[in-house]
Amino acid sequence: MNISVFDLFKIGIGPSSSHTVGPMYAAKQFLFNCMEQFPLTKIYSVKIELFGSLALTGKGHGSDTAILLGLEGEEPASVEPEQIPNRLKRIRKNRTLCLMNEHKIYFEEEKSFIFKYEDLLPHHSNGMRFTVFDDDSTKLREENFYSVGGGFILNTKEIQNDNEDFGAQIPFPFRTCEELFEHCTKTGMTCRELMWINEQTWRSESDIWEGLLEIWGVMQECTQRGMSSTETHLPGGLNVRRRAPELYKELVDNPETSPAEMMDWVSLFAMAVNEENAAGGRIVTAPTNGGGGVIPAVMHYCHRFRSEFNEDEIITFLLTAAAIGILFKEGASISAAEVGCQGEIGVACSMAAGGLAAVMGCTTSQIANAAEIGMEHNLGLTCDPVGGLVQIPCIERNAMGAIKAINAARLAKRGDGNHIISLDKVINTMHKTGKDMMHIYKETSLGGLAVNIPEC
Ligand code: SF4
Repeated sequence: MNISVFDLFKIGIGPSSSHTVGPMYAAKQFLFNCMEQFPLTKIYSVKIELFGSLALTGKGHGSDTAILLGLEGEEPASVEPEQIPNRLKRIRKNRTLCLMNEHKIYFEEEKSFIFKYEDLLPHHSNGMRFTVFDDDSTKLREENFYSVGGGFILNTKEIQNDNEDFGAQIPFPFRTCEELFEHCTKTGMTCRELMWINEQTWRSESDIWEGLLEIWGVMQECTQRGMSSTETHLPGGLNVRRRAPELYKELVDNPETSPAEMMDWVSLFAMAVNEENAAGGRIVTAPTNGGGGVIPAVMHYCHRFRSEFNEDEIITFLLTAAAIGILFKEGASISAAEVGCQGEIGVACSMAAGGLAAVMGCTTSQIANAAEIGMEHNLGLTCDPVGGLVQIPCIERNAMGAIKAINAARLAKRGDGNHIISLDKVINTMHKTGKDMMHIYKETSLGGLAVNIPEC
């Protein structure tokens, strides 16, 4: 699978890339596939089944909402988060769905939306099945999709052949850090330069430049909204307070002279993003939503605490981080349902460490070292969101991931690039650890903090 930087950094909505962004894409894709076979007007009813982790944490992660909007033709990048509550109210009150914003059908959510908590589809814990029927109750089409993390979706055929490349060939293909290094050594190019050339497979140079700056712009807007929100609590019923606005005010009104204040700012940036995510706001998957505060926080750290963070450095950061993200996507997983929180916060931390190291002028070996440290100290991290909501421990965990990423980059910069555990080895270890991790710790809310907090 050839992966673009824009596959890893996608503009979407909260609270989850695998449970919100992916399902919305899947619902729309399913209807596209239907339209190739028959006119939408043939559809009389629709059935949606969610399996495994999608069923267990789907409500808390907004999967049902995302699918309904996807069936109405919406996409995560363009749907207006503020309009979602009214859209849902309309669907539920009128009991109608307007498929692809073209064809209205009767829709009884309680009967047509089925959560299969005990069942799994064969290839992944985040499975969903869409079925449509005509007015004789004859099945017109049925299709399974899998949301495999970071908003990526695959159908049954694609997930069975996940290692095959169906898309365009890129000039410098790589699946491992060793292969990436080989290209760098042969050509004398940096990771950023290689990625820049690979990206031109899909886009012009100006589109890549503008697109990456837009990604950074959306990250900045998201952070700013989180810091200045006037809402006091997050939705979902846990009664979690938004802390970013108060912390922001405190830092502005009462600045300290301690160097440790930098950590407060980095934590603030990360928490602001993830509070917005928890509230269903506009966010960039980086490379997921749950861990989506780490990279923006480290970029804001560059913006605020480094003398220069110009457009060129923004591009360097994002392309280098994406190269590392590709290694994890190819060699392990960025899906918490597969490998726990290692795949979200761990990968984001590793990517951010590599991106920051590149901006700090590190060598390719030092960048790999930074990324390796970033993951090594997230190995074994479980996914156990309380109440199935991406709030506890997720929001604070982004702050921890961002601080760790900065530390990893600085440690690598102080070294000579030599390290005993290679990035490939740590990716492999993370993958194996994820496979050994019990199901209850992989985005099911059946273990860990999710079951060990006192009832309020
Ligand atoms: S615990 Fe980690 S992986 Fe799980 S939902 Fe929260 S941020 Fe995502």
